[in-house]
Amino acid sequence: MPAQPSLRTSLHDRGQRLTPQRQRVLALFERIGEGSHLSAEEVHQRLLRSEERVSLATVYRTLRLLSSMGLLQELELPEGGRRFELASDAHRDHHHLVCVRCGRTEEFETPAVLQAGEQAAGHHGFRLLECVLNVRALCPGCAAAE
Ligand SMILES: [Zn+2]
Ligand SMILES: [Zn+2]
Repeated sequence: MPAQPSLRTSLHDRGQRLTPQRQRVLALFERIGEGSHLSAEEVHQRLLRSEERVSLATVYRTLRLLSSMGLLQELELPEGGRRFELASDAHRDHHHLVCVRCGRTEEFETPAVLQAGEQAAGHHGFRLLECVLNVRALCPGCAAAE
């Protein structure tokens, strides 16, 4: 497997400027690692904890920008919320189990979904780019509280 270039390298390769603000948000995601899904509010809280003076609106803007640059992956939650995670090729084809009550998000991988996507795309002559499944569910805690 080829080594993954760091996000900063790929950013640099594409000649895009990494402002200190974007750098800090990216660094935050790099620190917590792959497989963590944060809302804009959570990112904001963490930045405030590390003494960053930044508004929630700026955090939103930065997250959306980093997503459009392909550095973060945006995950749309069933109840209108959004979470963001680090984007990387090695961590692309995974799926999400999302609690509709508290937003707890677990990842899973299954070749069956990709196969189904490939089959459907092939059947219609489409070229598959991405195949992601979001499963709405209740986590054990929220199910018990019902
Ligand atoms: Zn994920
Ligand atoms: Zn829950």
